[in-house]
Amino acid sequence: MKTLEEILKFCEDVSFDLNFTHAKKWKDEKEGRVIVGYMPIYFPREIIHAAGGMAVGIFGGGDRKQIIKGDAYYQSYICHIPRSIMELVLDKHTAHFDGYIFPSICDVIRNLSGIFKQQNIGKFVKYMDFPQNFLPQIGGVFYQQEMEHVLKYIKEINGVEVTTERLNHSIELYNKNRKMIDFIYKIRQDFPWRLSIVDVYHIVRAGTVITVEEHNDILEQVCEHIKKDIGTPQDKVKVIISGAFCEQPSVGLIKAVEEAGCYVVDDDYMLGSRMILGDIDSKTNNPLEAISNSYIKQSQFSSSIYDVHDPKEFRLAKIVKDRGADGVIFASASFCDPSLLDAPIFQNAFNKLGIRYIAFQFSENINQYKVIKEQVGAFSDSIKLWEDEPVVAIS
Ligand code: SF4
Repeated sequence: MKTLEEILKFCEDVSFDLNFTHAKKWKDEKEGRVIVGYMPIYFPREIIHAAGGMAVGIFGGGDRKQIIKGDAYYQSYICHIPRSIMELVLDKHTAHFDGYIFPSICDVIRNLSGIFKQQNIGKFVKYMDFPQNFLPQIGGVFYQQEMEHVLKYIKEINGVEVTTERLNHSIELYNKNRKMIDFIYKIRQDFPWRLSIVDVYHIVRAGTVITVEEHNDILEQVCEHIKKDIGTPQDKVKVIISGAFCEQPSVGLIKAVEEAGCYVVDDDYMLGSRMILGDIDSKTNNPLEAISNSYIKQSQFSSSIYDVHDPKEFRLAKIVKDRGADGVIFASASFCDPSLLDAPIFQNAFNKLGIRYIAFQFSENINQYKVIKEQVGAFSDSIKLWEDEPVVAIS
C-alpha cells in the first residue's frame, strides 16, 4: 500500500496534466483502445469502458492555461470554461482523443459542440441530450437511444461489439467507484480534518482521467488510510459548497474556503462522478435500461435537470441536515446561467428554512482570493458568534 502522501501527489499530478499523458500512455499500450473526452457535468462512463475505451473528463484549463485563441470563439459575457477547452484543443492537448461528448447542460456547451463539428475536431462529436422527461417509457427509452448512438460511433472506430456481460462488468466497477467516493465523504462528514477538501478534490478528479480500475485501487487505499485517526481537528464550521458543478474554481480558491475557517463537508465540484446515488443494477439483461433508470430515478439534483416533482432546494436542505452542516456557500462560475438561475430558488427557500448561506462568483482562472476569503471568514465567524441567528450575505 502506498502512503497517503504518495497517493495525493499522484492524484494532483494526473488531475492537472493538461496533456492527458496518462490516458495517452494507456491508449498506446494496446491496439483498439479509444479515448473519448466528455464535458461536464455527467456522462455514463460505463458504456465507454464496456466498448474498450476510456472516458476522460475535460474540465478546462483552470488557472494553468493562458487563453489567447479561445477568447475569439465566445463573447465576453459567457463563462470561461468553453474558452479554455477551445484553447486546449487548438493547442493539440487532446490530439490523441478519438471523440467528444457534450452532455446537454446549457446552451454554451451545446454551442461548443457546434464549434467542434465546424472545426472537424475528433473522429466524432456527439451532443448528448439527457432526458427531461422522467418516465422510463419516454425519457428512459430516449436516453437509451442516445447511449446506443455513442456506442455506434465507437464501434466504427475499434469494431468492439458491446455485450451485456461487458456492460454489466463496467457497471460493477463504477458502482464500486461511487461507493468508495461516498465512503470518503461520509468519513469527512464526521472527521473533516483527516483529508482536506483539496485532497478530496484531487482524488475524485483523478478518477476522470485514469482508468476506473486504477482509480478503484487508489480509492481502496485512501479509504484504508482515512479509517485511521489521522490529522488534527480545528475550530471550523461545516459548510456545503453548491453551484460549482461545471467550470471548476482554481485549487487555490477551493483551499481558501477551508483556510478561511470552513470545513467543506459536501460539494458539487466533481458532480458527474457522484451523479448516480447508489448502485446501478449490474445483473440485468438490459444494462442500458439499468443505466437509464439510474439517471431517471436515482440521480443527484443538478441545475441541468428540471425535476418539478423533487424540488432541488429541499434536496440541498436535506444534504445540509444529513451532513450536519452549519451553512451553504453558493459558488457560481461567472455568467453560468444554470447555476445563477437556480441561486434565487435555493436562497428564497433557505431564507424560509433558516439555513445560513453566502454567495460568490468565480472564474476558473482567477487566483486572487482575498475578498472571497474575507467573506468566507466573516461567514464562519458569524456562525460561531451568533449560532441562533440566520445569516445571509450575497455578493
Ligand atoms: S459554467 Fe455554466 S454556463 Fe458555462 S458551460 Fe458550464 S454550465 Fe454552461
